[in-house]
This record gives sequence, C-alpha cells and structure tokens, in this order.
Amino acid sequence: MSEKVTPAATSQPLAPGLYLVATPIGNLEDMTLRGLRVLASVDRVACEDTRQTAKLLTHFGISTPTVSYHDHNELSRATQLLEQLKQGARIAVVSDAGTPGIADPGAVLAADCIAAGVPVIPIPGANAAINALIASGLSAEHFAFHGFLPAKEGQRRTELEALQQAMKAASEATTQIFYEAPHRIVGTLEDIVQVFGSEHPVALARELTKLHEEFLRGTAAELLAELQQRPNVRGEMVLLLSGKLSAASSATRSLAEEVRTLMGTGLSEKDALKQAAKARGLGKSEAYREWQRTQARR
Ligand code: SAM
Repeated sequence: MSEKVTPAATSQPLAPGLYLVATPIGNLEDMTLRGLRVLASVDRVACEDTRQTAKLLTHFGISTPTVSYHDHNELSRATQLLEQLKQGARIAVVSDAGTPGIADPGAVLAADCIAAGVPVIPIPGANAAINALIASGLSAEHFAFHGFLPAKEGQRRTELEALQQAMKAASEATTQIFYEAPHRIVGTLEDIVQVFGSEHPVALARELTKLHEEFLRGTAAELLAELQQRPNVRGEMVLLLSGKLSAASSATRSLAEEVRTLMGTGLSEKDALKQAAKARGLGKSEAYREWQRTQARR
C-alpha cells in the first residue's frame, strides 16, 4: 500500500537549504514522517542511485525530480548543487539506504554549504552503525566508527594492529564499529583473533531491520567458528569489537614479535621497525638495538 504525501499536506513551506535525509536500511516503516514531508517539498532530490530512490519515492507517492549524486560525480555535482542552493533552492540528499554522509556521499556538499553560508539541516532516521551498537550488548558510552576496513588482507591486518596499539594506549575503553562485506567477514574475524586474541568480545549485526535480522554475540573465536560452519554468509553486516582488551590481547607483545607480524603483512624490515617503534613511543635507535638483540638470540 502506498501513502500519498504532498507538499499541500505540510503545515509550513520548507525553508531554503540542504536537507540530509535518512532513508530506511531494509524496512520501509523506518522512513520518518518528517523525511517524507521534506522529500515531497524540496525542489529536487540528489540521490546516490536515481533508480533506487525512485522506488522509495514511488512507494510513498512522491514525484519530486531527482538528480544523481554519487561517489564518482560527488565533487562536480556538489559544485552545481551549491550554485542552486546559493540561489535559494531547497535540495535533499539521500543515499541508497541509511544516513547520507555515513560511508555514503553527502559530506562534501554539506561542508561546501557550510562554507558558503547555506543552511544544512539533518533529517534523522535509519543508520546501520548506531542500531548495531545499541543492540550489540557492548558499551555505547564511548565508540568509534571506522566505515569499511581495507579490502586487501595485508592492509586490513596492519590497520587492525595499529588500532589495537591505539586502544592499548587509550585512557578509556572505546567500542569499535566497522561495516563489512559478507565475502570478507571470515578473513576479518581471523585477523581479529590473531590481533586481539580468540577471547576478545565481538558482535555482528546482520540484515538489520530486515526479515532475517540476526545478532551474533560472543568471543572472536566463537563468531569465527559459527560463520565457518555455515555453507555461505550473506547479507549486509556491521562488526563491533569491545573496547576492553582481553588479557591475551593486552599482554604486551614484544617489539620483535610485532616487527615480524608487520613484515608478514608485506612491510620491509625498516618500515616494520619504524611502525613498531612509533606505536611504542620508542626512538628509532632504541628500537633498532632491541630488534638486534632479539635477532642475535634467535
Ligand atoms: N549510510 C549507511 C548507513 O547510514 O548505515 C551505510 C552505507 S554503507 C555504503 C553500506 C554498509 O552499511 C553495508 O555494507 C553494511 O556494512 C552496512 N549496512 C547497511 N544496511 C545494513 C543492514 N540492514 N544491516 C546491517 N548492516 C547494514
């Protein structure tokens, strides 16, 4: 059943400006009434994929013109849209799903508008990261969102190593949130077991707001075992890591172990030593002497 929303149904005309409108991530009931009013009232809707947004607009009986605004034309399109906004246009930005600007286009235009004195108005709604977090069972007191980890295995491992070092040095436990692709999740969990330890608490939120919504909560090794025994892993997912380092993971790894791990990801000895030294706040020559000592003992 589709609902008709027309500008006539609104109480007040919409003020000029850029409207960042969140759209559902799997359940159309998550489209807000305010979001619908804005989409029906703006001069145009800038969307990541016009065909995808057309389905949403048609469902709700909205006929506002659309224009594409995606990763590949974000910069050039932002310039055009900004010109229209400066002349008093009312433009909404939507992504395919969820909140624009969060691992999706939107931030460039918002920053340009702010610099040009054009009002920027967020229209809240669905977001995968926040909804995964609040139902993960992990602390939401402090959290950090990283978007997607690098697709390449070596780079992903290096990033996780650096994150573990940063968490070790941090004064407060911070839950870490990642978006992840189904074909990479097993590899990522294998890296997490290696870097954070098999007992590290993690959560995986899959297919949020959809029919087959699922939360997996447990240790990194438990989640890895669960996914490995499935014939296939599908769907959209958010991975969360506890900010509290487990005993195994926080046991200080020696500089030499770290250098060897980093070299295993493809770094040269010199670069691995530099990175391991930096993570520990050691000077280059001090780190080099320690590395030489352990090499001599082998
Ligand atoms: N802007 C969106 C938001 O506000 O969540 C995120 C866009 S990002 C390109 C897409 C990624 O978000 C997916 O690969 C997945 O990691 C996560 N995601 C989106 N919808 C999801 C859902 N229904 N359940 C779990 N994760 C989801």
